[in-house]
Amino acid sequence: MSEITNTGRPFDSPSGLPAEDLAKTGGGSLKRIAIFGSTGSIGTQALDVIAANPDKFSVEILTAQSNNELLVQQALRFNPNLVVIGDENKYQSVKKALASADIKVFAGEKALEEAAAIDCYDMMLAAIVGYAGLKPTLRAIENGKAIGLANKETLVVAGDIVMKKAIEKRVPIIPVDSEHSAIFQCLVGEMRNRIEKIILTASGGPFIGRKPNYLVNVKREHALQHPNWTMGAKISIDSATLMNKGLEMIEAKWLFNLRPEQVQVVIHPQSIIHSMVQFEDGSIKAQMGLPDMKLPIQYALAFPKRLRNDFPRYDFKKVNMLTFEEPDVKTFRNLALATEALNRGGNLPCVMNAANEIAVFAFLRNRINFLDMTDVIERTMETIPFVQQPTLEEYFESDGKARTFAADIIKL
Ligand code: NAD
Ligand code: MG
Repeated sequence: MSEITNTGRPFDSPSGLPAEDLAKTGGGSLKRIAIFGSTGSIGTQALDVIAANPDKFSVEILTAQSNNELLVQQALRFNPNLVVIGDENKYQSVKKALASADIKVFAGEKALEEAAAIDCYDMMLAAIVGYAGLKPTLRAIENGKAIGLANKETLVVAGDIVMKKAIEKRVPIIPVDSEHSAIFQCLVGEMRNRIEKIILTASGGPFIGRKPNYLVNVKREHALQHPNWTMGAKISIDSATLMNKGLEMIEAKWLFNLRPEQVQVVIHPQSIIHSMVQFEDGSIKAQMGLPDMKLPIQYALAFPKRLRNDFPRYDFKKVNMLTFEEPDVKTFRNLALATEALNRGGNLPCVMNAANEIAVFAFLRNRINFLDMTDVIERTMETIPFVQQPTLEEYFESDGKARTFAADIIKL
């Protein structure tokens, strides 16, 4: 049984902040939103939510890595203060397309961080994919801005430093990942009560029930087809390998200040229960709904309020069955590797994440097969020197070393 409360902090809300601080994430009458990664799956759905609530939100910053056309379209529609295009080769074309609008245009990796440090928004929706999301998110926290966190890799890589900084700056981090949003929603009103454990549900992905002799031959197109969710390419592959659930275990540990053994994964193929919290009296709370990322996105943007919407509703009259089973960690070894990273801590989750990003990149380009991804990650985790309490600089170094090593194995 845990000796810590669910946050372990002398605060009052799931994010570790008093409720009144969270209510203040709204700024003025319009909550001013900065979407980092606005052209992705989460980013575009967030803009749908904002478009449906023009009296609640304004858009101040939009960023994209390479999709300049969509970025321009979004900018012309939502009229932000500024946009950042990651790919510097596309700067001129974005600048030209927005010449007649009163929108500042910046380009490059450094510009992302600088944009996060500007004081023109209330909440950052961190929707960049991968390690690239870490530095801008840290800058937003340093800038005292609330975070709606979709980018789970930020907490996987440097969760201790990110959460410490958030507490120091009294910045709320509201999860957008559906499982963590579910847990967060279950914890509202429960802050003085101890968590026994959390139960993260996993759909099992497109290859549930399959064995290695099948997996060795699966192709990129097949792996990208998720049964319940439509998502970006990287997280779709992570869902197929169950690495996504591994990353989410580590994300949950940091968000809710849990010990590794308090985080359990259960396969729930229907994706109706988004996750659960078991309290010390044995009572379990679950948050349910249809699998639709707009719901956790809207919840994070509007927190502490719930907004009315017309998203499809779950209908109990049409329910067939809700089922649960143990994950097959012998076949989906990424989940076992992530559990090891969760247990050992230090720089191991960071190293694992870097190797996974390289492995997924290589798989998406048909350079390695589905099962090779796990081998690349495992060998990288065995090789990169372990650091128990890394500084931020040491996390950056570990990430770099792991990427180089993993890329060498694959001969990228
Ligand atoms: P995506 O690939 O659809 O979009 C990623 C966004 O990040 C794009 O706007 C892209 O331009 C930008 N980007 C990519 N690489 C970048 C870089 N190097 N520098 C700056 N910007 C970069 O991804 P997604 O599916 O929207 O996922 C975004 C994040 O949200 C991921 O961390 C993912 O794990 C998490 N998440 C996604 C879902 C989902 O349903 N898609 C659910 C839960 C969590
Ligand atoms: Mg999730």
